Amino acid sequence: MTSHLRLLEPLTVGSTTLRNRIVMGAMHTRLETLDRPTERIAEFYAARARGEVGLILTNGYAPNPEGRLEEDSEVFDDSTDLGPHRVITDAVHEAGGHIALQILHAGRYAKHPSAVGPGEDRARINPIAPRMLSTDDVRDTIAAFARTTELARLAGYDGVEIMGSEGYLINEFTAELTNYLRDDDFGGSFEGRCRFPVEILAAARERVGEDFLLIYRISAIDLVDRGMTGQEIADLARRVEMAGADILNTGIGWHESAIPTIAASIPRGAWTFAAKNVKDAVSVPVIVSNRINDPDLAEELLADGTGDLVSMARPLLADPDFAAKVRTGRSEEINTCIGCNQACLDRIFTNRTASCMVNPRAGYEIEFTRRDPRVRKRIAVVGAGPAGLAFAVNAAELGHRVTLLEAGDTLGGQINLARVVPGKAEFSELLRYFTVRLDKLGVDVRLGTRADADTLASAEFDDIVLATGVRARVPAIEGVDHPMVMTYTDVLAGHRVPGRRVAIIGAGGIGFDVAEYLLGDAEESLDPKAFRRAWGVDETLSAPGGLTGPPRADVPPPSRQVTMLQRKTGRLGGGLGKSTGWILKARLRQAGLRMIAGATYARITDEGLHYAVDGQPALLEVDSVVLCAGQESERTLLDELAERGVRAQVIGGAGVAAELDAVRAIDQATRLAVAI
Ligand code: NAP
Ligand code: SF4
Repeated sequence: MTSHLRLLEPLTVGSTTLRNRIVMGAMHTRLETLDRPTERIAEFYAARARGEVGLILTNGYAPNPEGRLEEDSEVFDDSTDLGPHRVITDAVHEAGGHIALQILHAGRYAKHPSAVGPGEDRARINPIAPRMLSTDDVRDTIAAFARTTELARLAGYDGVEIMGSEGYLINEFTAELTNYLRDDDFGGSFEGRCRFPVEILAAARERVGEDFLLIYRISAIDLVDRGMTGQEIADLARRVEMAGADILNTGIGWHESAIPTIAASIPRGAWTFAAKNVKDAVSVPVIVSNRINDPDLAEELLADGTGDLVSMARPLLADPDFAAKVRTGRSEEINTCIGCNQACLDRIFTNRTASCMVNPRAGYEIEFTRRDPRVRKRIAVVGAGPAGLAFAVNAAELGHRVTLLEAGDTLGGQINLARVVPGKAEFSELLRYFTVRLDKLGVDVRLGTRADADTLASAEFDDIVLATGVRARVPAIEGVDHPMVMTYTDVLAGHRVPGRRVAIIGAGGIGFDVAEYLLGDAEESLDPKAFRRAWGVDETLSAPGGLTGPPRADVPPPSRQVTMLQRKTGRLGGGLGKSTGWILKARLRQAGLRMIAGATYARITDEGLHYAVDGQPALLEVDSVVLCAGQESERTLLDELAERGVRAQVIGGAGVAAELDAVRAIDQATRLAVAI
C-alpha cells in the first residue's frame, strides 16, 4: 500500500496553513439556481471541509457585469450581499477548512451581448462577437478584479483564485491568437500581452496586503493555434510570481480547443508535463490539475517534483471524504470519479445543475441528511448491477441487514460491459468501490444465486428490492436469428467476436460504445504518450499552443469496416453526452465509421443486411450484425412475486428500460435506500 506522506503534509503560505496538499478545484455547479441556495452551497462545501480537503476553490464569480459567463451568472462586486458568503465561509472554517473565491472574467466566451475581449474576433464556440476593450476599459477591469479581491476578504474567504486559463479574458490577453491587434500597453509584444494579469495581481495585492492568498491559474498549455509556447508560459509564470501570486494553479487547454482534456478517454496524468514546465519556472507552490483522480498518482506527482499540491475537482464531487480516507489509510474505499461527465459537465452544458453519477448526494447534501432508520430491516436485493449495488451499499450504511442475490458469478451487471470499452476503463473503479464497501459493511453477497419467487416469498425479508436490470432488445427483422447476428451483450461480454465487416443496428450510447470497442485503441486512453501522439500534442511545448499539427492526422485507420444505422433521419450520436460525444465522434470518423440515418431494415441473409433509405433498397455486405437497439426490462420475477401476492420495489432498468442510464439507476437506488 502506498503511503501518502507528501499529499498529507501541511503547507504554510504566508499566514495560512493548509492541512494537506489536496485542493478541490473550481467547478461550475449551478447550485445557486436551486432552492435554499446559501444553505445548500454552505453544506456542499462544508461536507468537503469535514472530509478534510486542504483548500476549496469556489465556482467562478465575475468581477463586473461584462465578465459574467451567462446572463444570470453571479457578479461579485459592490452590489453583492456579503451575508450569504459569510455563511459559506463560516461553515467551511467551522469544519477546519480553507476556501478561496475564484474570480473569472468570461471575456469572449460570455454568452450575453455585453461580451468583451482584447480584440473583436468571435470564439469558435460562441455565436456572440465581443466588443474590444479600450485601454481605459482594461484599467477599469483591473480595478474591478482588485475590488473583488478586497470584498472576498471581507466576506471571510482565505484568498482568491484569479482565473487566467481555459481561454477566458486573461488568457485571451496573454495569447497571440486573440491579442494581435492591440497597440496599447496591453498588447503589441509578449511583455504587453502579460501586462493585464501582472497588473491585476499587483493591484489585488496592494488592496489586501500580504496575508491573503492570491492564487493565479495559469494556462499551462493553450492547445489552440497561436497559443503560448512553453517558454512564454514559463516567462508569464515568473512575471505573475513577481507581481504577487502566492500559488500558481495550472489549467489545461482552452474551451474551444479541438483536443479533449478531462474526459475519461484521456489517460490519467496526461497533462502533468505542462504543470512541470510551470513548476520549474517559479519558486512559489504549484498546483497540478486535470485527470488526477487517484491518491497514488497524486502522491507520485508531489514526490517526483511535478508540483506541490494536487487539484481534484470532480473527484471531490464523487467523494467528499477523499482526503479523510487517504489520511486514515482507507484509499480503497474512495468513491472514485470515473470521468464520465454524465451528471456534472454534461448537465452544466445543457443548463442543468451538476451532481455526480457515483454520488447522487453531491449538491443535494441538505436533502440527504443521514438519519439512522427507526427499524433495522432485513432486505433482499435481487441483481448486482449499478442499481442493486448502490441500493445494497446505501441501505447497509444506514444499518439495514442486506442480502444481495446475483444470478451471475460476478458483481457489476452492465458495468462489466462498459468497462471493456476503450476510454471507459475507469468504470472498473466503480466496481472496486462497491465491492470493497459491500465487504466492509458485511452485506451477505450470494453470487451464482438465481432468486426465485417461492424462496423470496417464504424467507423472512421485510422488503424485497428488484434490480434485475435489462436484456438487449431483439427487433423484429426478418432473418434476425441468422448466425451472423449477435447482441451488444454477446460482443461486450466477449462471448462472440464480430467479423471484419460489421453492421451496428442502433446508434444510441451503446451503439457508439460497440463501435468504439471494435474500432478504438485502448492504449490511447491509458498511455499518456500514445494519447499525446494521437492528438498531436507537443510535449516539448516548443510549438505555439503546444500543438504539433491537426489532431489525429497520423493515426492509421483500423482494418475493420463498421457501419452504424438508425431509423431516425436525424444526425447519429445526437443523444451522446455534450462533453464527450464530440471526442467519440472525432475518433470514430477518423477510424472510418460509416453512419446511415433513416434506414428501414428489410432482412438479414447470408449476403448481409438489406435495408432501404428513402425507399431505395440497398445491401450492406457484412460478416456480422450487432444489435444495439435498446433494452427491455427484466421483470419476470416481479410478475411471479405479484402472482403470490408479495410486494417488491423495483429500481433501475427493471423499472424503466427506455433511456435508462447508470446516473438514474444509482440516483434512484440511493434515494430508495434512504427512504425505505
Ligand atoms: P438508446 O439510446 O435508446 O438507443 C437505442 C438505439 O436503437 C437507437 O439508435 C434506436 O434508433 C434503435 N432502436 C430502438 N428500437 C429499435 C428497433 N425496434 N429496431 C431497430 N432499432 C431500434 O439505447 P442504448 O444505446 O442501448 O443505451 C441505453 C442507455 O445507456 C441510454 O440511456 C444511454 O444514455 C446510456 N448510455 C450512455 C452512454 C454515454 O456515452 N453517455 C453510453 C452507453 C450507454 P432508431 O429508433 O432511430 O432506430
Ligand atoms: Fe466524475 Fe462522472 Fe461524477 Fe462527474 S458525474 S464527478 S465525471 S463520476
